[in-house]
Amino acid sequence: MHCTTQGYCYPNVISCDASKEFPSRAVHAEANAIAQAAKHGISTDGASSYVTLEPCISCLKLVVSAGIREVYYETTFNKGNNAALCNSFVEEGLVLN
Ligand SMILES: [Zn+2]
Repeated sequence: MHCTTQGYCYPNVISCDASKEFPSRAVHAEANAIAQAAKHGISTDGASSYVTLEPCISCLKLVVSAGIREVYYETTFNKGNNAALCNSFVEEGLVLN
């Protein structure tokens, strides 16, 4: 279930990070997809990922660790040192498009 269907992470907040008191309960899409694959016994080794937004660094590291070889996205997200880290993954063989 997507959090927006139940009113984000907590009642009466207007976005995932709107609560200054409580941490977000959200899981990034890539982490959720990898966890769901594991839960259902589906190998991600050699798989491709299709997302709308470039994975954040934490998710990209999960993607690499899960053996996903290709990542396709529409919109860039990472900047500066994070973009450089993404490029290092590409140089080491992960395909980011
Ligand atoms: Zn992420």
